[in-house]
Amino acid sequence: MTKYIFILGGVVSSLGKGIASASTGALLKARGYSVRMRKMDPYLNVDPGTMSPYQHGEVFVTEDGAETDLDLGHYERFTDVNCHKTDSISGGKIYYNVLQKERRGDYLGATVQAIPHVTNEIKEFLKSDLHGEDFVLYEVGGTVGDIEGTLFLEAVRQFANDVGRQNVCFLFLTLLPYIDTAGELKTKPTQHAVKTLMEAGIQADILLCRSKMNLGAEERRKLALFCNVSPEDVIIALDADNIYRVPLAYHEQGLDTQILKHFNMLEEAPVPDLTEWNKIVHTCSHYEKEVKIAVVGKYCGLLEAYKSLNEALTHAGIANNAKVKITWLESEQFENMTQEQVNEALKTYSGILIPGGFGVRGIAGKIKAIRYAREHFVPFFGICLGMQMAVVEACQSLLGIENASSTEFGGNCTPVISKMKVWEQDGKKQIRTDNSDLGGTMRLGAYPCVLQEGSLASKIYNNAHEIRERHRHRYEMDIAYEARLKEKGMNISGKSPDGLLPEIIEIPNHPFFIGVQFHPEFTSRPNRANPIFKAFIEAALKYDIQGKV
Ligand code: GLN
Repeated sequence: MTKYIFILGGVVSSLGKGIASASTGALLKARGYSVRMRKMDPYLNVDPGTMSPYQHGEVFVTEDGAETDLDLGHYERFTDVNCHKTDSISGGKIYYNVLQKERRGDYLGATVQAIPHVTNEIKEFLKSDLHGEDFVLYEVGGTVGDIEGTLFLEAVRQFANDVGRQNVCFLFLTLLPYIDTAGELKTKPTQHAVKTLMEAGIQADILLCRSKMNLGAEERRKLALFCNVSPEDVIIALDADNIYRVPLAYHEQGLDTQILKHFNMLEEAPVPDLTEWNKIVHTCSHYEKEVKIAVVGKYCGLLEAYKSLNEALTHAGIANNAKVKITWLESEQFENMTQEQVNEALKTYSGILIPGGFGVRGIAGKIKAIRYAREHFVPFFGICLGMQMAVVEACQSLLGIENASSTEFGGNCTPVISKMKVWEQDGKKQIRTDNSDLGGTMRLGAYPCVLQEGSLASKIYNNAHEIRERHRHRYEMDIAYEARLKEKGMNISGKSPDGLLPEIIEIPNHPFFIGVQFHPEFTSRPNRANPIFKAFIEAALKYDIQGKV
């Protein structure tokens, strides 16, 4: 019988509910159970695909092509279970579905109301596409008391009654603030948050309290008393210096034990195998080497915008036993600099990475950074927009097409990158026109890519013939430039199986220069770094040792 765990948040936002949920999933997985992780976001966007990264951080792309909340990235990295389109829903999508049903006449003339129509739609989501998993974990976005979240809580309350309260556990993440002047942790905000949750008809079963320090036995007893839980169900989630320590810390505090006890499963439960987690944490705290990488991006003011990228670089560091020191550089700052000034600004780094992005801001700066890496034989890794700009830079510098650019940026240019109009997905033709909606119309999700034998890409992927990586883009390199670029030393080493869409470019006569149309950061795991990231850090470490060529 499937057990359902709801992770709710109280007191303040930004407590790291995503990591808390992912770590809970990781612990249950380490106990040998099958887990499924899902996220509900009460906001009214239909999905986060059209939101600026500055608004909501990175848009995480699932294998089956959903544009989702970045927390799904944590779920995948911590549990190594791929999420699906059906694992993420927003308030906007719920209302969208309800209104579509209303227009179709599905409600047979009824007055369409928040309860039951909207709540039923949410319950449909909770029940949909399940396959007898041992545990399904649902993170509810936002903080208890938010107006937007009310209907979600109501649906969750009803759902718990529908499936039987004994099959549901409410995990409540709160904060114990430390008040300097009083010299103590305060439990009152948590007590109030638990009460607010009870107003929605939900009794928290386990409290997960973010805190700077441990709570004394007496305070723990008091908090438990006021919140209607046992003292063992007050789990202290201490601030951690490394997110991959969190599953271990929760286990030490007894979280998985209390969950299993709640479900009456502790007796038969297998002990958790935490070997992998211990290994990861051990490596992270005993790095033998260090390497400096510059990421030249355009949302560097908010690192949440590059969550998976940041993690993938860390994973590559773990795989190479090296601390990856990342410097985030806004490409816009290079726009008004001369090439020499950019070279000077980048000379202390052992690797240059240009991540994905949208729009013209900062493009000229990225091109200068790429030129520096190409001409000075510094390891270079371009992702999506970064790959496209590597092609633009090569067309400008090597082919002499001064106004080579992407049609994404408008203006009068020779388009070497332009909008995809027709492509295949799962045997179905996808057609886009210039007037297509912006939301949900990109080339999204995992696609196969055939690797050229003997290329760097093929070596990186262990001589694989074909790989699958996740995409999220609207524009594509024009394959017509293949022969001319090859003559000048840039090779297309990965293509879609029909040979029409360039997926990977590289410069064989360079220690490491690779650009990929896809986003390899989404498939990286802490104990299994994505191969390109791993190879990039390896190349950067070599560059460090050998110095400039
Ligand atoms: N803006 C580019 C495109 O749409 C690149 C997208 C990206 O980097 N994810 O093709």
